[in-house]
Amino acid sequence: MATMCVEKIEMAVLKAEEEGLASLRRAVLDPDFAPGRPERIQAWIARTPFFESAYLVDRRGTVLYPPLSSGGEEATLSALRAEIPPGFWDREGQRHVPLGDQVALVAVIQGAAPGPLLAVLRRNEGELRRDVLEKTLAGLEGQSLLAVLDGSDRPVYAARPLDRAQRVLTVPFGEALPSWRLALYEPEGLAPRDAVRRQAALFTGVFVLLLGVIGFGLAASYRLVRRESEMARLKSDFVANVSHDLKTPLALIRMFAETLEMNRVPSEASRREYYGVITRESERLTRLIDNVLDFSRIEGGRQRYDLALGHVEPVVHQVLDAFRYPLSQGGFKVDVRVEPDLPPVRLDAEALAQALANLVDNAMKYSGDRRGLGVSAARAGHEIRIEVSDDGIGIPPSEHARIFEKFYRIGTSDTQGRRGSGVGLTLVKHIVEAHAGRVTVDSRPGEGSRFVIHLPIPAGS
Ligand code: ADP
Repeated sequence: MATMCVEKIEMAVLKAEEEGLASLRRAVLDPDFAPGRPERIQAWIARTPFFESAYLVDRRGTVLYPPLSSGGEEATLSALRAEIPPGFWDREGQRHVPLGDQVALVAVIQGAAPGPLLAVLRRNEGELRRDVLEKTLAGLEGQSLLAVLDGSDRPVYAARPLDRAQRVLTVPFGEALPSWRLALYEPEGLAPRDAVRRQAALFTGVFVLLLGVIGFGLAASYRLVRRESEMARLKSDFVANVSHDLKTPLALIRMFAETLEMNRVPSEASRREYYGVITRESERLTRLIDNVLDFSRIEGGRQRYDLALGHVEPVVHQVLDAFRYPLSQGGFKVDVRVEPDLPPVRLDAEALAQALANLVDNAMKYSGDRRGLGVSAARAGHEIRIEVSDDGIGIPPSEHARIFEKFYRIGTSDTQGRRGSGVGLTLVKHIVEAHAGRVTVDSRPGEGSRFVIHLPIPAGS
């Protein structure tokens, strides 16, 4: 980059000189020009700011311009003339010659009236800086700095202060600007090695970030696909489970109905028992179908609840009444505790009964050898807690959150050998949340389970 800048600057200097010299030639060759009439040259100087001064000397050493030159200058000029070889005059030569601490452009102009003239032109350093250096170097600097130094290493031009910048390299100019050099600096803390290290760190960072994003994307897609396929599996299990659940009570109803129809019942007591089975199993069927229908309404966002101030106690007793027969048949020891004078809460009695029935049904379904069921309702601060506890198989804590997900059943599709569709607790959660309450579970494998429905007591009750 520095070499390219040097070449550009040199070309710009030579071009400016060439143009200036061409217009001087025209001024000198003008018939109006005569040694006694300096106005044309003065006008040329005024037009050509690139040159600060001009001297015109004839072959004999007479200074034709400026008209009044000092003795010192004449001596310099004649010393300079002595350096010019004779051939130079004849072939209209042109070259750069050191003059003091500067360089002068020396050129022969043929064809002037007083004979060939030697033009000695000094550049204007300020103009050189403005017109050439500034224009050429502007926009070329990146983070590094460029400066033009003179023979004593003093900066002739620098776009920005060099301060504590470190010089990286210098490139000398050609004969148009002898002893001057172009220097490339790195600002403090921006040494090439540091810059490379910084860039490497940046690229590594970006690369790691990119890998992270790709990894995150892959993990997210993998999770999504896994969830989707898990959901597809759960749905197909759901269909199989519901069908199975429907078949069992239907088969029982049919069998007992046929037995009754054929009058093959041994006693009146058995007959009553058979009617009881049919009633119980059709109730179970109704509950099951209600669950599936409500679940589909919830999924479609069509489920509505009719909330009104009401008491919890009758709901609890209604559910226990519905389960009285299967509970006694299953040999369950039932413990019911409902605090007297519980304040009313906003509830949809039918929906709340369905939620409780699902919890009681689960307590029976997932019971073990010890068959105990506890149902209680009590006030605790600003809420009413309805608890359904059992001494059953229990639930590992890691599954507590998942059991409320739709279709989710612990283990395989025939969970622990019990019938079920996996939407019971989903419904409980939905119903309770519609009552502005929440449902919690406290359970451990082998230690039974306790599900609690928390319903808020309206302010003022
Ligand atoms: P399901 O139709 O399978 O009973 P639920 O949504 O009612 O569906 O329950 C989800 C799962 O939670 C059940 O499959 C069972 O594994 C577990 N679970 C629910 N209640 C109990 C309980 N009282 N004791 C042990 N496990 C339970």
